[in-house]
This record gives sequence, structure tokens and C-alpha cells, in this order.
Amino acid sequence: MTNKIYDVVIIGGGIIGASIAYYTAKTGLSVALLEANTVASGTSSKCDGNVLLIDKEPGFDSRMAIKSQSLIKELSTTLDMEFEFRHPGSIFLCANEDELEQGYQWVDQHNKENGDNKFFKKLNKEDLKNDSKYFSDHLRGGIECTNDSTINPYMLAFSLINQAKKYDFTLFEKTPVTKIDRLQDEGFKVISNDLEYKARKVINAAGIYAPQIGKLLEIDIPIVPRKGHILVSSRSELLGSRKIQEFGYLMTKFGKEREATKEMNDYGVALVHEATQSQNFLIGSSREFVGYDTRVNHKVIKLMAERAIEYFPAMKDMNFIRSYAGLRPWTPDNLPIISETKVSGFYIAAGHEGDGIGLSAITGLWMSQIMTGKLEDDISPLSINRFEEASR
Ligand SMILES: Cc1cc2nc3c(=O)[nH]c(=O)nc-3n(C[C@H](O)[C@H](O)[C@H](O)COP(=O)(O)OP(=O)(O)OC[C@H]3O[C@@H](n4cnc5c(N)ncnc54)[C@H](O)[C@@H]3O)c2cc1C
Repeated sequence: MTNKIYDVVIIGGGIIGASIAYYTAKTGLSVALLEANTVASGTSSKCDGNVLLIDKEPGFDSRMAIKSQSLIKELSTTLDMEFEFRHPGSIFLCANEDELEQGYQWVDQHNKENGDNKFFKKLNKEDLKNDSKYFSDHLRGGIECTNDSTINPYMLAFSLINQAKKYDFTLFEKTPVTKIDRLQDEGFKVISNDLEYKARKVINAAGIYAPQIGKLLEIDIPIVPRKGHILVSSRSELLGSRKIQEFGYLMTKFGKEREATKEMNDYGVALVHEATQSQNFLIGSSREFVGYDTRVNHKVIKLMAERAIEYFPAMKDMNFIRSYAGLRPWTPDNLPIISETKVSGFYIAAGHEGDGIGLSAITGLWMSQIMTGKLEDDISPLSINRFEEASR
């Protein structure tokens, strides 16, 4: 039992909890982070490291992504531990006329908001050929986004925690939260392993487990695990320098129909190619609602490999060294929940689905501003109340 009363206790030490810890401790508040296992042992170490604008809906979603991208760039020069930040930009590949038309519309929508050619540009077949000789001949064209970057998620989480420790911050690992009591006047008693941690404010950053933490205070949180697989190649010649995705990724992410075989659609398989700093590349992706099971399903891996070969025929001769699966914290409208709850002093920062790495910095900054009562932006689209309003 510690007698200290923390200004803020964060539950969950993934990329989101780590970012909140850094930004909040930096304001001068006293912060503790309680993590059931070890830092980044959950989804944040079973993912890619894309920091993307290209796959964000024009409007609030994309404005949030742009802010987070510039914060991550800033972190790459201010945090002591480096985290493999690079800024290669990204492209979407369009395999047929329909995708090309939709892709070009996507560019028009983004350009309308941000200014012509500021971040987005249309690519034709020849542009693609100039970009990589490895692209399949059947591709019709694509789109590019120059603002997209990449990091190593595991290293960013550790780097943020390392920096938070320079302020009034304490990390408690192997500390699963099992109970939360409200104190009589103000604040909470957070309980784990028979130990108590007192806090004026508590933030639930438990990713796919945020609903279980919410239940401790009778708060319903509509987050569901959405499984995704990744394949890792051996070190090899790079097939492309930028972040590369098929346009159909947007359809699988937002749960829309697209032209692909039934099996590809059933498992939400869409090509994602990410070159890492160590010259391996990661191949994704899949999307399924199959509970909390993180075991690799080899049927899905096979489909992902087939999909990758469709876009990069040369990949059929390449070696893959491992595969893994993680669980994205999905919400019904594909936006995270960053908000206070019906319990005053109890907050949520979770539900980032496939965007939590890229959106980690803005989530941490906004939460720190909420903690100090100095929130600078209108983030009402991220309120938990939106789900109640939608069900009325
Ligand atoms: C295959 C795949 C690819 C992805 N690619 C990208 C990408 O390229 N770019 C991107 O932006 N996003 C990507 N994502 C999404 C991203 O990984 C997630 O959005 C992000 O990691 C979520 O972070 P989090 O901190 O909310 O959750 P987590 O990392 O899961 O952290 C939550 C933590 O809470 C802890 N916890 C749970 N219960 C308790 C408890 N009772 N007490 C204490 N602690 C508890 C857990 O142990 C865990 O460490 C991908 C995800 C997957 C699966």
C-alpha cells in the first residue's frame, strides 16, 4: 500500500498509456502507470508501425492524424531514445478501374480539405512503374500521400516511458487492476494484487481490455477485439521504399464491400507492405472478429501471401521468417474514445483499432490537456456519449 495520492493513475502500458504518461508527467502532475504485464506486451508489440494519413476519412479523422504525425516527428528529435522514425510517404495501389475512380475521388476529397497536392496526388500506371519495378503489370494506377511516416512501435512505447521517468512518474509492471473504488470526497482507490493506488483521476488505457476495466465502475465501453496477422520476411532487396497498401485496405478497414474472392473478404485480407529499418519487410493484413485468440491461423497467412504475390509477383521466391497476430481495439464508428465518462474523474483513451500507433501522440497530448483543464481542440466526436446518442 502506498500512501501517495497520485494526480493521475493510468491503467494499461501500451503505446496509448505510454504516450499519456509522457505528456501528462511533463505538465508537472504526479503520474503512475499500472500495467498487467510489461510495457507494450499487448497489441502495441503485435502490429506495424505505420503513421498514416492516407487511410483516414477526410474531416475530423484526417485532421487528428495530421496533428499526430507532426507530434511524432517532433518526438523523434525530443525523446532521448530513438525509435526508428522515418518519413517515406505512402501509396495505395488500385487494381481495377473502379478502385482507381474511388482512389482519385479520395484524393479530391482530401485536397479539397488540405489544399491541392499538399499531401495527396493521383498516380497513373507509368508513375507506379517508375516507383518500383516490382509492381504487378495488372495495376492501373494509385494515389500517394507524402505526409506518411513510420516508427518502431515497441521502441516508441519504451522511449515515451523512459522520458516520462524524468518527471514525477512511476511505472508499476505485473500490476493487473482488479477493482476500483470511489473515494468519499474525490478520487479513486485502484486495487491490484491486494495493493492500493490512490488517485485524483484515473485513465482507462487498457486497449481491448478497456471494457473489462469499465465494468469495474459499471461503464459500458463498446470496444471489440479485431484480429490481424502479419508476416515478416527475411532481409532482402526492398521491393519499394514507401509504405504500400492496396486500395481495398480502406474497404476492409471500414467494413465495406470490395471486389475480391469470398475467402479474401471473409478474412478481410488486403495487402500492406512495410519496409523496416533493418531491411526486413512486413506483410499484412487481415481483419476478423474472433474473440481474444492471438494464435496464428495458417489459412489466413496463406491467403495474405497469395495476396502479396498478386501485387508483387517476385515475392513468390522470397523467404518469410515468422508470423504473428494481434488484436485491434475496434469501435463501431472506427474512431477512438478519448473522453471523460459518466463517473466524474474517470476517463477513457482506447479503441484506436488499426491507428493506435499513429494516433498515440495526439491521444497523449489531448489527455494531458484534459488532465490540466486546458484542452485546446474540440474533440467531441471522440466522446463516449456518442454511442448512447446513436442508440437512442
Ligand atoms: C496486425 C496489426 C497491425 C497494426 N498496424 C498498425 C499500424 O501500422 N499503425 C497504427 O497506427 N496502428 C496499427 N495497429 C493498431 C495498434 O497496434 C493499436 O491501435 C494500438 O497498439 C493500441 O494500443 P493500446 O495502448 O490502446 O493497447 P495495448 O497495446 O493492447 O495496451 C493495453 C495494455 O493494457 C494492459 N491491461 C489490460 N488489462 C489490464 C488490467 N486489468 N490492469 C492493468 N493493465 C491492463 C495490457 O496488458 C496492455 O499492455 C495494428 C494492429 C494490429 C493488430
